[in-house]
Amino acid sequence: MTKNCHNDYKMKFSDVEEFPDLSLHNNHMAKVLTKDMYKKLRSKSTPSGFTLDDCTQTGVDNPGHPFIMTVGCVAGDEECYEVFKDMFDPIISDRHGGYKPTDKHKTDLNFENLKGGDDLDPAYVLSSRVRTGRSIKGYTLPPHNSRGERRMVEKLSIEALATLDGEFKGKYYPLNAMTDAEQDQLIADHFLFDKPVSPLLLSAGMARDWPDARGIWHNDAKSFLVWVNEEDHLRVISMEKGGNMKEVFRRFCVGLQKIEAVFKKHNHGFMWNEHLGYVLTCPSNLGTGLRGGVHVKLPKLSTHAKFEEILTRLRLQKRGTGGVDTASVGGIFDISNADRLGSSEVQQVQMVVDGVKLMVEMEKKLEKGEAIDGMIPAQK
Ligand code: ADP
Ligand code: MG
Repeated sequence: MTKNCHNDYKMKFSDVEEFPDLSLHNNHMAKVLTKDMYKKLRSKSTPSGFTLDDCTQTGVDNPGHPFIMTVGCVAGDEECYEVFKDMFDPIISDRHGGYKPTDKHKTDLNFENLKGGDDLDPAYVLSSRVRTGRSIKGYTLPPHNSRGERRMVEKLSIEALATLDGEFKGKYYPLNAMTDAEQDQLIADHFLFDKPVSPLLLSAGMARDWPDARGIWHNDAKSFLVWVNEEDHLRVISMEKGGNMKEVFRRFCVGLQKIEAVFKKHNHGFMWNEHLGYVLTCPSNLGTGLRGGVHVKLPKLSTHAKFEEILTRLRLQKRGTGGVDTASVGGIFDISNADRLGSSEVQQVQMVVDGVKLMVEMEKKLEKGEAIDGMIPAQK
């Protein structure tokens, strides 16, 4: 086992003396982490030297979040999910609807298996987007990686992306070569990740050395984008204005598989296993890592007493349109799939397509002053 002197030093205090104060907390980690578990795991570390305290710091520092139930821990490398499985397994089960340590994940990136999705009403659906994350095997993850490692991830990504052609031909824009105005414009247009302001990201150590080795690559049409070294090594995004989720998903599947093929050719596979699917920094993104969502106008439905229940039944999640840390403005929401693990990419996007379609029908019904009680779906 690798020596982590900083962690060894803590052992002169007892587990009781070191146990974090979680009394005001409401996140998955705080619910799961017991004193016994802490005692058993606190002296362990992964081969790269990541510890239980490193995994949980973000959830200790951030008791809760105003809009979503957060996980409260991250992985610093691929091995965290194994070395600290006593904690991660129940968190994964809690977050992913009872997913068991023996369960196997499904992958389906065949876009032709999606039914419909090309006709979400653009009067309501302003934009459609599908994203996922990918981690390059052999490198530690953003909460833990060193400057050199991070720069290597950036270098490998630039090399791989430079080989794409046709509709995927694009260019890399490093953050440290961008003016503030250029950066602000890309953020305002929803193309680029936010500045490192999220306390979740900061406490997890993912903003260290910012903006070093961070950047965005996109094709000429700005419809296929890759974020480098934000929360994951890679975030791959397909998006466009309007309600053609079918086309967005097609471009997502084709582009993503091209990128994976280039990485594999250069002997850099992505972190993946049968049980967890694609291994990413945040346990909430294990599995497909996929968040398929639309920005949709629902001023009436969103003030209906059953709005939350409808979302839960459709297995959907809401956010504000400025990202996970923002509230909705003017009845416009980011509606996306709640599940990532145990079902496939196609199944998850299907859930969004069918659910959003129904919610838009409900909105139209409410506009006419009619009741929607008969339209409320059974629990999916
Ligand atoms: P994630 O981390 O899941 O990609 P965030 O909630 O952090 O998503 O948002 C990241 C950025 O993506 C924000 O600028 C947000 O406005 C933008 N975004 C998310 N969904 C959509 C969508 N359907 N249409 C346009 N922009 C979107
Ligand atoms: Mg984000």
